[in-house]
Amino acid sequence: IEADKLELSLTEFEFERMLRRTVNVFEFRVAEKKQTLTVRMEPDIPLRIISDEQRLSQVITNLLGNAVKFTPDGGSIAIAVRKLTESPCTLEVRVTDTGIGIAPAQQAGLFRSFQQVDGSISRKFGGTGLGLAISKRILEMMNGTIRIESDTGKGAVFIFTIPVDVPVELPAVRAVKAERSSEHVPADDFTGRRILLAEDVAINREIVIAILSPLGLEIEEAADGQIAVDTFSANPEAWDLIFMDIHMPGMDGYEAARLIRALDHPRAKTVPIIAMTANAFKEDIEKCLAAGMDGHIGKPIDFNEVTGFLKKYFLR
Ligand code: ADP
Repeated sequence: IEADKLELSLTEFEFERMLRRTVNVFEFRVAEKKQTLTVRMEPDIPLRIISDEQRLSQVITNLLGNAVKFTPDGGSIAIAVRKLTESPCTLEVRVTDTGIGIAPAQQAGLFRSFQQVDGSISRKFGGTGLGLAISKRILEMMNGTIRIESDTGKGAVFIFTIPVDVPVELPAVRAVKAERSSEHVPADDFTGRRILLAEDVAINREIVIAILSPLGLEIEEAADGQIAVDTFSANPEAWDLIFMDIHMPGMDGYEAARLIRALDHPRAKTVPIIAMTANAFKEDIEKCLAAGMDGHIGKPIDFNEVTGFLKKYFLR
């Protein structure tokens, strides 16, 4: 980067999908630190944009990584995306945390290479002091900007803006695409089947709901394991299948599955419970099965994996 050898690689991609993938990587660390991570996207953000997907994701990764790192356990981190101008389309991304913050006098220097607030930072938190310098360079190449709003002990907000190209997409094109994508909705009818969805991250719930609701399924959301157990046990007969996230603050998915299986009701023993987790190592899957779950789908969530389980359990 210092030698100005960095070149952008522009492609057309789905902004929200890139954001989802980037955020998902932090799910585990956020859960470990019992932090909450929320993502808010204004509805007028274009579906597809033209930019350097990988580099944009790298900037968000740097900012999110810092937010998680410099925010104590139990704190919160929020990402908010909005459109600042229409044409050219400028997006603004804010990463807000409730962490240790940065004194105004220190802020400008942080975008220089190898700069950290003070020497104790690298001993306590690790890191190289390169992330922000790299992020700034990338954004400048994209004609974007980055700034900080923060003070010691007050948390930090990193705000960056980038102009992006939006591929011309006439409304008719969108309609055709929507129709086409409904082609892979199976003719199978799942109408009226009731799903309990235990997942703490709102954007992940939205993805599953976006996949399931066009198939006629009814979905009840539970934001953690305890709520899932309570919702199930209030009326065990009501549920046809449970999708269970593993890493949730409070009660995790393993424990929630165990508690449901241990309930004194016949349905508690038979209701299919499918784990949803980004960790798909053999041990993780075995742990899910050992906790009484019936299967596992990976994250990012894949349409065919989800519908595969629906077919398996509902079309027998
Ligand atoms: P690194 O995180 O590897 O040290 P960065 O360039 O990403 O390098 O960050 C430089 C420094 O800026 C950090 O060491 C830290 O002192 C400060 N910093 C960055 N983000 C935050 C944040 N969200 N809250 C508090 N301090 C931060």
